[in-house]
Amino acid sequence: MTTDTITNVPLLDLQAQYEPIKDDVLAAITEVFQSKQFIQGPKVVALETMIKDYCGATHAIGVSSGTDALIVSLMAMGIGHGDEVITTPFTFFATAGSIHRVGAKPVFVDIDPDTYNLNVAHIESKITPNTKAIMPVHLFGQMADMAPIMALAKAHNLYVIEDAAQAIGAKQQVNGEWQSAGTLGDVGCFSFFPSKNLGCCGDGGLVTTNDDALAEKIRLFRTHGAKQKYYHEFVGGNFRLDPMQAAILCVKLPHLNQQHDGRRAHADAYNAALTTVKTPVEAKGNWMIYNQYTVRTSRRDALIDHLNDRNIGNAVYYPLSLHLQDCFSYLGYSSGDFPEAEAASKEVVSLPVYSELSDAQRQYVVDAINAF
Ligand SMILES: *Cc1c(COP(=O)(O)O)cnc(C)c1O
Repeated sequence: MTTDTITNVPLLDLQAQYEPIKDDVLAAITEVFQSKQFIQGPKVVALETMIKDYCGATHAIGVSSGTDALIVSLMAMGIGHGDEVITTPFTFFATAGSIHRVGAKPVFVDIDPDTYNLNVAHIESKITPNTKAIMPVHLFGQMADMAPIMALAKAHNLYVIEDAAQAIGAKQQVNGEWQSAGTLGDVGCFSFFPSKNLGCCGDGGLVTTNDDALAEKIRLFRTHGAKQKYYHEFVGGNFRLDPMQAAILCVKLPHLNQQHDGRRAHADAYNAALTTVKTPVEAKGNWMIYNQYTVRTSRRDALIDHLNDRNIGNAVYYPLSLHLQDCFSYLGYSSGDFPEAEAASKEVVSLPVYSELSDAQRQYVVDAINAF
């Protein structure tokens, strides 16, 4: 196929992802129906085992969504009213939303303009006696700079909650060893929202941890804080992963590395070919999984019009930095507080990078952008 026959390229093509695994997915769903095990059960345990091995963590706890992974982790750590959690304003809403929802206060720190992740140099000055945790986000599939974050956390006795919703399988070299997202902090929080690299057919999430006591507590909080049914040690919630989703994820996980490789190959090709926009920066010692391939230009809105005219799927992650959201006005931030996050929200746009994208489709995108 050449670019002549292409008239549109979607941002993501879930049909193309589903087609080769259709029979296995349907068989897995049927199995759940036949077992009638609709809450918890062997499919959830199987997925937890597969993911803890995949990430190299001691424990994996399936939960109802990426948002709930963050909330149940905060609850299990006892973080709530009067506590502060340091995080980035340039992320999906759930990162800071979860901190607010347990009654704690999100405290923002500006980002690095190349990686879009927390600028670690700005964290220490925001630590107060009320600070309980740092919540770095591994945005677009690249890990935040974890070694200095872990050192700060250790020095100030803080928890580290990795928001790894966009980064399952991403790696970083720490002291010469490659480590997976979600295994360096006290917990790693994952999402299986359909547009993530490992997506289910609805909502789903998971928490990884190497801390036995914390794992046990998160399991309790996942089911209303009860170890023995109807006897409640804590007030938790219903944060359980649906076994139907777990069954589907068990089918999809073995294909994940191939998907990552496909995305990385497209990203490399874009990086080499795109001339009119700033391409993503994979920081030294990182292995990025490109949940998004995000370019940057001061003429962003005009570029979006140009892409839309050519039916090229695109999206802005994220158009309004969290410190400027109406619901967080009570935090007292104003425009200009985080110049890098604010500039990024005006200049970024994400392009199609799914592994089933054909080379001709990619070339169509490249030609369009280079002609801009
Ligand atoms: C997707 C996402 C979440 C939330 O995950 P859900 O499964 O949609 O609840 C949290 N943080 C980040 C950075 C995300 O991208």
